[in-house]
Amino acid sequence: MAKEKRWQLLRDETKRQYELFDGLTRRLVDKYSTSGRHIHCHKGCRECCNLAVNSTYVEALCVAEILTDEQIFRVKSHGEKLLRHVGEISDLKGYLRMQRTVIGFCPLLNGDGACGVYGKRPFSCRSLLSTMESNWCGTDFSLLSRSEKQAFMDSLDREVVAFPMHYLAASRDLGEQFESRTALVMAEEFGFTVTGNLPFLLYLETEHGLGNIMCHGYDITMDFLHQARLFNPFLIAVDHI
Ligand code: SF4
Repeated sequence: MAKEKRWQLLRDETKRQYELFDGLTRRLVDKYSTSGRHIHCHKGCRECCNLAVNSTYVEALCVAEILTDEQIFRVKSHGEKLLRHVGEISDLKGYLRMQRTVIGFCPLLNGDGACGVYGKRPFSCRSLLSTMESNWCGTDFSLLSRSEKQAFMDSLDREVVAFPMHYLAASRDLGEQFESRTALVMAEEFGFTVTGNLPFLLYLETEHGLGNIMCHGYDITMDFLHQARLFNPFLIAVDHI
């Protein structure tokens, strides 16, 4: 099958899964709201867009196909910044901190704080629903005192959150299931999966055309990533299934 056709089928399937996922999360939110509680996420609230956002390569391609020239430019400088700084990182904690303190917000955010690719955002963004005020989504917990952390944890509704975080557990778990299924469909097509930091995957697609290279198989994909010095385990995972 032609390269473009292979990816097109996967993108179409991912878009169908987004619709299904959105319907299921709407029901979860309705159920949560009937008990007098509410989800605090709203347009213009961008605090969680400063976290490391991961996706499958197919999801990144769904975003890539609608990027404007300006967004492609921002993705390029974001990707290059990631590559410049990630070499100094030796553990996950350091990587997550670097994301917040050095790299900064997702390059797809609009000036008004709204997602610039909202309809095509990946499962990891769709599934993050906050049960508390948005300032908690932007808090660096490593900077809180022990008593502040304790007060935060005591305030959580442990029946519904992904403890010790304040995000709705049910939508997060659902997002992980949908993301895994998407990765599996990609593995069935190519024999391996590519997942990683969303802006970095977008950079690999828009600047290096990785989607086309992946059609030549796992070995060629890995050779390319290593030779071009684009492989870093914090930014991308390439796995045989
Ligand atoms: S894709 Fe959209 S929702 Fe997700 S982190 Fe980027 S701007 Fe935020």
